[in-house]
Amino acid sequence: MELEILMKNLEKNNMKPYYCENSQEALELVKTLIPEGSVVTHGGSVTIAEIGAVDLVSNGNYKYLDRSKCKTDEEKQKIYRDGFFADVYLTSSNAVTENGELYNVDGNANRISSIAFGPKSVIVVVGVNKIVKNLDEAIYRVKTIAAPKNTVRLGLDTYCSKNGKCVSLNMECPKMSDGCHSPQRICCSYLVSGQQREKDRIKVIIVNESLGY
Ligand code: SF4
Repeated sequence: MELEILMKNLEKNNMKPYYCENSQEALELVKTLIPEGSVVTHGGSVTIAEIGAVDLVSNGNYKYLDRSKCKTDEEKQKIYRDGFFADVYLTSSNAVTENGELYNVDGNANRISSIAFGPKSVIVVVGVNKIVKNLDEAIYRVKTIAAPKNTVRLGLDTYCSKNGKCVSLNMECPKMSDGCHSPQRICCSYLVSGQQREKDRIKVIIVNESLGY
């Protein structure tokens, strides 16, 4: 599809679209979008680490809410909650549709709640590998790529971590929330971000590379 159409549709949905040729360009852009001194945090995201943005916020002049330093679940929960009041939230998206929607599925829901409301500015970095035609393709993408790869990465005991796809795809007409019943399931809450009320709160940086899952 024409990237130009996707960018226009994001803009129509009140999200600020950007295009970068590669990760380095994306990192430079991210830097300009985070004012010094900002309270900044991020969701669990391979993309954000891959472009170097985790290093950027760890070493820059920011108040970085760093969950990797948490020793207990309680501390982690606090960081998740504090993230709600951050100035800037960095994340990727599980998929972006040609219609300019972001589709995200979450286990703890801290990431999707921060995309929906809370942080003043949300920077979403997505590789072109995550662009899909519509929400049906977005749902399928999560069940066949994002969730299986993330459960392997996190060492979780789910059907998809062992079989490379969601168990729901063995059904004739799987619904969005059909899936396994593992206590370690990561598909618990589902968010579609369409037209936003607050213009440009969400910035979407499309990178012309394959990034994350
Ligand atoms: S519902 Fe379970 S099996 Fe299906 S994709 Fe999510 S974690 Fe994997």
